[in-house]
Amino acid sequence: MIEINEVSKIFTGRGAPFTALDNVSVTIRENEFFTLLGPSGCGKTTLLRVIAGFIDPTKGTVTLDGQDLVSLPPYKRPVNTVFQSYALFPHMTVAQNIAFGLEMLDKPRAEVKKTVDEMLALVRMTEMADRKTSEISGGQQQRVALARALAPRPKVLLLDEPLSALDFKLRKDMQLELKRLQSETGITFVFVTHDQEEALTMSDRIAVMNAGKIRQIGGPRDIYDHPAERFVADFIGDTNFLDVELLSIAGEQATVRLPSGAEAQVRAPGEGVAPGPVTLAVRPEHASLSGGAGAVLPGTLANVVYFGTDTHYHVDLDGGGRFVLRQQNQPDQAQTRTVGDRVEVTLAPGVGQVLRD
Ligand code: ATP
Repeated sequence: MIEINEVSKIFTGRGAPFTALDNVSVTIRENEFFTLLGPSGCGKTTLLRVIAGFIDPTKGTVTLDGQDLVSLPPYKRPVNTVFQSYALFPHMTVAQNIAFGLEMLDKPRAEVKKTVDEMLALVRMTEMADRKTSEISGGQQQRVALARALAPRPKVLLLDEPLSALDFKLRKDMQLELKRLQSETGITFVFVTHDQEEALTMSDRIAVMNAGKIRQIGGPRDIYDHPAERFVADFIGDTNFLDVELLSIAGEQATVRLPSGAEAQVRAPGEGVAPGPVTLAVRPEHASLSGGAGAVLPGTLANVVYFGTDTHYHVDLDGGGRFVLRQQNQPDQAQTRTVGDRVEVTLAPGVGQVLRD
């Protein structure tokens, strides 16, 4: 278990001091696939480097299983890093690359050989053991980089955007592969990405970061279905924001009045939000044009966009604002709605989320 407690990092170069991490606290559990997600420059890599030991925090503590990490140099930490540029040795073979770290640790030859064979099998590269790493593909190099980092059996593997150099199809395959490696080895993975889909598909939990702060921590479903604030709702997936009036809160449920005057049952915000004007976030797939139970927003269809698996409907709401909703297509389904039609957007009951800000 990694405990990061009130960590700040202020860079003081030639320019004005810059706060890259602002009082970050997070606990990463043993054996979990934990992702730091956020836009470029939000401090993800800085936090990863603080854990690795390449950057000293300006303040705060980092412990692993109760042991202080900050006072340990990087090479003494039971932590390994996979970088975006795999940093393999091109003149060495696949097997030699994987063996390298183990040899540095002066492991006996028989043990090195055994571990290298295990790692080759783990990343499915046994057949390529004797190839030079300059003679294998980008995806294969990525596997070797992973095998090399996993070989010394670190307690924690840090991964800094390791899939960003791969093409789309390969990246999809490697996402599943990484998830498999994590569950087979039981090693804690701390994964950095700015790609929300990557984070949602692979992670046990996600920390969403912005401007040096962690804004929300939760499982993928929790973060997607129940974003706590506007930044998170906006950064992950598509969202409609509605100006509504919060009428009452009962536990996790809240009642709001929509701009149409209808009342809707939605998810309550976190603590500290009082009745009055608030923002309601609704995912495009959490509303429909085909009626059913739920509160209604009338409007006029402004655009219909076909996407293969689904169709997006853009609705100009009466009283202002646009609502985008997404409906799954059925095979050979006729398109019955056309631009200019009067429609009613029906919100699925209970799924909208009142935001904290
Ligand atoms: P990206 O996805 O682009 O890699 P990131 O979220 O990983 O972004 P960091 O690399 O952690 O971002 O950087 C956070 C902020 O700190 C950035 O604004 C960056 O310019 C700044 N920063 C990073 N390293 C230094 C440094 N050595 N000196 C000064 N500022 C730095």
